[in-house]
Amino acid sequence: MDQRDRNLTIARGLRRGLVATGIIGSVGFAAVAAVSTGSTSPAAGGSGTAHVGATGRGTGLLRGLTGDDGGGERSGDDGRPARRPRPRPPSAPLPGPSLQLGSGSPQVETLAHVALVARFGPGWFPSVGTPEQPGTFLATVSGDVEAPGVHEVEYGAPLPELIAAAGGATSGVQAVLIGGFHGAWVPGPSVPSTTMSAASLAPHGASVGAGVVLVLGNDRCGLRESAGIASYLAEQSAGQCGPCFFGLPMLAEALARLAHHGGTSAVDGAVDVVVRMTTLVRGRGACKHPDGTARFSISTLRAFTDDIAAHLGGGCRAAAAH
Ligand code: SF4
Repeated sequence: MDQRDRNLTIARGLRRGLVATGIIGSVGFAAVAAVSTGSTSPAAGGSGTAHVGATGRGTGLLRGLTGDDGGGERSGDDGRPARRPRPRPPSAPLPGPSLQLGSGSPQVETLAHVALVARFGPGWFPSVGTPEQPGTFLATVSGDVEAPGVHEVEYGAPLPELIAAAGGATSGVQAVLIGGFHGAWVPGPSVPSTTMSAASLAPHGASVGAGVVLVLGNDRCGLRESAGIASYLAEQSAGQCGPCFFGLPMLAEALARLAHHGGTSAVDGAVDVVVRMTTLVRGRGACKHPDGTARFSISTLRAFTDDIAAHLGGGCRAAAAH
């Protein structure tokens, strides 16, 4: 996107009411409401302006507005500039003629909270949620529930109530993935006592994260579903850092062997490979993609211990239930 395109984009946004100027009487400040399309999974809590490479949503959008297409020096297979790793987002204002006064990208939740505080007064915010995590968040509940959808809930809300708000589970709850594909599984037996708070989710290695909640019904194989997610995650990188180029494919392949080749020699050592890879890839990428994938994978081993034992012996609990 060159400067002319950026100016056109902002002009169109002004016409369509997506850009607001003179915020609260200020001079020279504008807000842009934008939806970005990206190459990383929304379920993983990430997205970015297309071709910007590995960035967070806000950073990707801001880089797109400054004309940074994320291209490297060489071309990718599709003829577009190859994506390249990014350092962790800087907090300093990004350069660019359109953003000379600096910029920021608050989440929609934050802006909604500001509006609610303005409406109900400063006492509203700490009156909802928990003392450690006041406020509300948007939970996207999907998977094996009757009515997938987005719900605004307080931090600390019981997980069973959230599932009930989505119409309830369709076939019993085997496990719930909290925080998207970079999150962690909460095993079914723990669901009744789990709340959507950092303190309650921490023992499972999970956090609310982007608010993505995926319910896994009793009639599915947790290992197969997890192997599919791990395989997807292994493909979602620029492949420019060692952990993504070498580690994640090995990790995903080991989970796939465990899920699909139970009772054969192919599963020998698969669990050990997963454990070793999750240790090796952590903290070694230019971004947190390997860390999130490792978190998800190790939680798979913790949440589905019975399934792993069944698969090693050539069985499958979910298949036997059909
Ligand atoms: S760690 Fe992986 S996803 Fe992150 S920048 Fe490096 S190659 Fe890309």
